[in-house]
Parts: sequence; structure tokens; C-alpha cells
Amino acid sequence: MNSEAQRDYNDLIELMKKQGGSYDFDLIGKAFEFCVRYHEGQKRWTNEEYYIHPFNVAKIIVTLGMDSQSICAALLHDVVEDTKATVEDIKKEFGEDVALLVDGVTKIGKLSFTTKEQQQAESLRKMLIAMGKDIRVIIIKLADRLHNMRTLDAIPEQKQRDKSLETLEVYAPIAHRLGIRPVKEELEDLAIKHLDPVAYSDIENLLKVRRQHREQILEEIKERIEERLKNEMPNVKMSFQGRVKSIHGIYRKMYLQGRDFDEIYDVYAIRIITDTVADCYNILGIMHDMFRPIPNRFKDYISTPKPNMYQSLHTTVIGREEVPFEIQIRTFEMHHTAEFGIAAHWKYKEGITENNKSMEDRLAWIRQILESQDTSGDALELVRSIKVDLSQEDVFAVTPKGDVINLPIGSTVVDFAFAIHSAVGIKMIGAKADGKIVPINHEIKTGEVIDILTTNQAGHGPSRDWMNIAVTNQAKAKIRSWFKKERRAENIEEGKFQIEREFKRSGIAFSEKEYEEYISDLAERLHYADTDEFYAAIGYGGILISKIMSRVREDYNKRETASKPKQISDLTKRPSHSTEGVVVEGIDNCLIKLSRCCAPLPGDDIIGYITRGHGVSIHKRDCNNVPNDITKCDEPDRWIPAHWNTKKSENFISTLQITAIDRDGLLVEVMTTVSNMRIAVHSVNARETKDGNCVIVLTISAESVEHLKSIISHLEKLSGVFHIERIGR
Ligand code: MN
Repeated sequence: MNSEAQRDYNDLIELMKKQGGSYDFDLIGKAFEFCVRYHEGQKRWTNEEYYIHPFNVAKIIVTLGMDSQSICAALLHDVVEDTKATVEDIKKEFGEDVALLVDGVTKIGKLSFTTKEQQQAESLRKMLIAMGKDIRVIIIKLADRLHNMRTLDAIPEQKQRDKSLETLEVYAPIAHRLGIRPVKEELEDLAIKHLDPVAYSDIENLLKVRRQHREQILEEIKERIEERLKNEMPNVKMSFQGRVKSIHGIYRKMYLQGRDFDEIYDVYAIRIITDTVADCYNILGIMHDMFRPIPNRFKDYISTPKPNMYQSLHTTVIGREEVPFEIQIRTFEMHHTAEFGIAAHWKYKEGITENNKSMEDRLAWIRQILESQDTSGDALELVRSIKVDLSQEDVFAVTPKGDVINLPIGSTVVDFAFAIHSAVGIKMIGAKADGKIVPINHEIKTGEVIDILTTNQAGHGPSRDWMNIAVTNQAKAKIRSWFKKERRAENIEEGKFQIEREFKRSGIAFSEKEYEEYISDLAERLHYADTDEFYAAIGYGGILISKIMSRVREDYNKRETASKPKQISDLTKRPSHSTEGVVVEGIDNCLIKLSRCCAPLPGDDIIGYITRGHGVSIHKRDCNNVPNDITKCDEPDRWIPAHWNTKKSENFISTLQITAIDRDGLLVEVMTTVSNMRIAVHSVNARETKDGNCVIVLTISAESVEHLKSIISHLEKLSGVFHIERIGR
């Protein structure tokens, strides 16, 4: 270390000694040395040696009363991002705790504020809180931001404004939330200075002009108060402070609430700090006796603390000089909390927190303070958002550019890619999480930097598996719509493949012609323009095949039951032929029975009657059951003309599929059975199935349905045969 660095180091040691408390000076010394060594040769935008920045951040951290680990992490907070040092190196040299802190700060450092939307700011805030499982990470980040804001003048103007806006919308609210008032106010003032320099200097001037006059008045008032209190409460320890409201606070009242500078009563405040709560209320009584209180300006934050733990009594009064001013009364402990907020936790518990207090305890503690009672809407909102953060329904990850992507828990890199933009998702070929290649189903964790690797190669697109890997509906919809648009031919093939596979699985066997008819009918019923559209929809996932299969099975079963005779008829290609040598006009393929009442014989004059559910029964025309004048009977439509078929009955061809347990000699027995029945066999085909059964497909001629049924029942009796069905050829 050169002499300059040595001097700075001594400064830091001095500051720590002034703070009191126990520090690990060796570790901090090592961290300082490490920081100087690794940043050597690097310059800051201010043209100083780079280490000056981490050194100053460490000083802020010391002032906030933070522990040794935090001070080390502050010194090392930029080495991973800006030098060749790794988190591993830090872990080796400084232990796990410091390494985790540095890693956290580094990750937050990768966030940027490219989208100036409220929502993005909110996401960022949430993410920071979520990442600050160890809240020290956030405190270090706040200190980092504070020092950067103090030295903002050296960077280009646009960048100054971007940083300032981000500070105002993200970091200052966090400082406020954590109750670290001086950091919050300084961040706000510095931000306003760069965002609205004119207003800032106006307020500065106003304060300057009135200061001399008012400060004099206030100084007198303060003296009078001190005198009176020391008189009335001689043995009570008290401390008196004069305070001027922050420029940002005045700015808000003037420019956002439209107040005149002179209407702002709490520009000046006198703060009285004492030992006990009882003394606070005693002092309040004396103050209201000395000065006239302004109605509705008294606030008791002692009985009802603010969600960020702030406690104090506030009252606004008017003195003899007609200058309104605020009086704040609190205990020393409350004052400490008001100045350091969450950071105070480490100061008071110095030595205890170092004993590996579990993360859960810390979280519980933060939760508790943030859930403490406050009725303002803003505070409720805050508590709600904190709750969301802590229940971990969401994960927050960042792009390498620093945009925060908010996803439901369980989301994968596929979701992440499509959340950035469809184009990114579609071109994705892989992904890195925190610099390491991860599989595409990698689950996103809060704080990860996810780099989506893409290709510009034409014709590249998502894979169909991604539909199962994506968790968010957004990603699924985008993948689906890509397939819909880009891969029509492929989708049709995929759809056909899926349909065929599912049909096979469900044992649905159509003839080719029936299949085409059925699919075309189904497509129409589901409102697709044609079967290709339908196939394509299945292919890209527009309809789920599982959703339509129950309907298909139902249709199929209905057809099977209803159309068995029809099937046979179709095969015979003799549409109007009957089973009993009777032709019924206008009705094909129905069951025909000769009625018992008149038992018609060939040559008789006959007529058909359409029964309910039992086909057509044939009566003699002069049967008593046949109305004389059919046109005048109840249901004339049921009576239909019929005549005897004079041609010799023909055989029809039918194909049977016999499923059986595979055994020796089965095929021979099947062939023997049919030949014994004098049935002509047109073809026979036997094959083994995967599950060890045997399927025999037998095409034969049968004389009638009854004939066919009897053939089937003979075959069913063969040992091992467990299923026979008629199938299309
Ligand atoms: Mn930094």
C-alpha cells in the first residue's frame, strides 16, 4: 500500500474506534489491503484511485454502526464485478458470510433502471427486499449508492438523471422502509439536486434568506426551552438539537403539494432527547404550556410507532414571534433507532449477531417491525408487499442488462426467455444462470442473473417439449402461437401422428374411409375449416388430444353398437339387401324379422313396419295387425313397402380380428373350425403382439349376420381366444 492508502486506512481505523464496539481489525485490515491490491490501476469516473469508492462506502457502513463482516463486504463490494477476484476467492480469504454479502451486492449492482415505469420500480424494490435475506446486503448497497450519488457530478448529465430517478424511486424508499433516516434524506436531496436543479437551488436560497432571521429566533427559543426544562426537571438528562427539514421534504410540500414555503410549519424543528418515555410526555406538557399548539398537528408515534420503527412525539407550535416550528420529543434509544433504523439492530446486538443468528430469526424480526401497527394506507401497502416478498410466491431474476423479470415460483428459463420477449424465447438455444450453462428446465431462483443464449439461424424455433417445461401461461401461449404460425406442415403431421397413436391406444379401429369421414366430421363439429386445420391445431397444442379423446371414444362406441349390421352391408356392397330374403325400400342395413302373427312366406304380399329398436318386422299385407288404410293410421311413416328378394342370396365378405393367448396349434384349430363350417377363407394373417398375445386376422365369406355370429361363437370356444371383433379391411 502506498502512503495515501495507508493514511486512508488509518482514517477508517480511527472512525471505528470512535464508534466503539468490538471489531475484527485483522480481517478488516486484510479486506482493505485486498481491495487496494485488486483495484490497483483502476480509476473512478471522478479520476480518483478506484479504492477510494469502496473505502468511502466502508466509512458509511461504519457510521451506520454495522458489524465487521459488513465493513469487509463494503470494502470488497466491487472486486467481483470489476476485478479478476471471484466470490470463491473472497470465501477463502474472508469466510462464507462476507462472500455471501459481496455476492448479494454484486447481483444487485447488475440491476439497472432502463424502464422508468412504476411497476419496474416496484419490482426492483421487491427484488431488493427479497434478495436481502441478509438485510446487510441492502444496507451496503444503500451506502454504495449514497457514495455514488455524492460523486455524481463527474458523470454525463443523462446518466446523472437516470441514477437520480432510480435513487428517488427505488433506493430512497428502501432506506425509508428500513428506517435509516440520514441515508434516506441525503439520497433524496442529492437526487432532487440533479433532477430539478432549479427548484433545488430555489429552496436552498429560501433557506439561506430566512435562515439568518429565523435561526436567530429559533436559537432564542431553544435557549428559553432549555432554561425552563432544566428548571422544572433538574435531574433529567436532556439533549437539545435544532433541525432544518431536508430540501427534498420541503420540495415535496412546495412542488407536489403546492404549499407556500411559509406554510410549511416543520421546516424548523427543535428536538429534545431524554431518558424515559414518561419524561417525553412531561416535556410535551411543558411545551404546550410555553407555546400555543397548532390544532391537529400533534402526533404520538411513541404509542403508535411508524412501520419502520420510528418513535417520537411531534407537535407544531407557534411562539411569540409568530414563527411556527415543530418540536420532536423522544428517548435516546428512540433517537438511535430513528437515525439508524434496521442498521441499529447490528449496533445494539454487536457480538450477538456475529454468532450465526439464523436467517430465519432475522427475517422474523424484519417482518415483525414491518407489521407493527400503522394505519396509513402507504404503510399497509408496504406491509402487504413485504408479505408477498416473504411468502415467496414470486421469484425475481435479472437479465444481464439488469432488467428485473418477475415470475411465479417454479418458473424455468423457458418462462424467463418468453417473459423478456417472444423473439428471445423463439431464438433461445440455451441459457446461463450466474454465468454457468444450465439445462432448459432450470428453475429460476431469486437473484439469479439469467443470460438467454440465442441464435439467428433461420428456421430455428422452440421445441415442442417446451410446452411441458414452461410454467407460465404467457410462455405456453407464445410457444403455441409460434407453432401455429410457423410450422403448419409439421403441425399437421404431428397432429396426425398424435391422433393415430391415441386411436391405437384406445383400441379404435376405423376403416380408412370411415376414419376420414369421422375426422372430417369431428373437425367440423369442433369448428375447424377442414381436417388439416384440425390436425394442425392438435400439432401446435391448440386443442389437447386428451380433451377430445373421451368424445371420440364415446362416438366410436355408439357407432360400434349402432352400426354392426351396416358394416356388414357395406362390405357386401348390397345396400338394400336383407337378412331374410326381403328387400325393404328406402331403408338400408337394418335388422329384418318376419313377424310371428302372420308368418309371411316368399311370394306373399308383404309390408314392413319399423319397430322401436328392433329393426323392421315384415307382415303379410292382409295381416290383422296391418291397417287397411295406412294413410289414416296413427303413424303412417312407420309402414314401408317391402318385397321378397327373388335373387339367390349372396355371401358377403367379412374380416374378423381374433385376439388370443399365443399357443401352439391355435392357427390350425382356427382354420379347422372354419373349414368344418364350410366357410370360404379369403385370407388369414397371424402375428404376435408385444404383450405376448396373438392376433389372427381372418377374412371370410358369411351368408348372413346370423351365420357370422355363429362362426364367431364357434371360434370363441377355442381355448385361449378372448376377443373377437369385426373390423374394416
Ligand atoms: Mn460500488
